[in-house]
Amino acid sequence: MSNEDISEEFPKEFDTESICPSCGKKLTFIFHRTKISYEEAIEIESYFCKSCLYKSNEIRSLEREEPKKLVFGIRNSGDIRTILYRSPEARIEIPELNVDIEPGEISTGEITTVEGVLQGILEKIDLFDEEDADVEVLRNLKERIQGIINGNGENFTLVIDDPRGKSRINSSRVIILRHAAE
Ligand SMILES: [Zn+2]
Repeated sequence: MSNEDISEEFPKEFDTESICPSCGKKLTFIFHRTKISYEEAIEIESYFCKSCLYKSNEIRSLEREEPKKLVFGIRNSGDIRTILYRSPEARIEIPELNVDIEPGEISTGEITTVEGVLQGILEKIDLFDEEDADVEVLRNLKERIQGIINGNGENFTLVIDDPRGKSRINSSRVIILRHAAE
């Protein structure tokens, strides 16, 4: 089946014998195969209760790629405007800044820029409990990131470690390493 066929499909509804955990009526099963940017074909399965509007969703990607590590050396202030896609399971590392961003449990993928990633780190620093971290180290990191965002051209490396291999960085200078993710 080609991707075009997949995008043409409309959601299908089926009556089921499953019972709504909320009100006890019978659930409707809705199946939808579609396409979204960067993830290509996905299946959306949901159980829906027409009586109380209870809904549970499951989204599954039909395509899976080999684990992959993307390495992008930021060499000038223009590089921070490079667009990237981080898939839901991907980890981000910036070794020069000692930064390591694990995908959260309820993490969704995001389309952003290198600058957007840096802004996200600044927001996280503000959320840190001061008792759990060295205030001086955090302040220095914050100033350094702010400097990069302001265009001081500091070089650093952005690494996206993606067990599903779906992440992208839109630059011809990205090095892609096949890599078995732990
Ligand atoms: Zn219900």
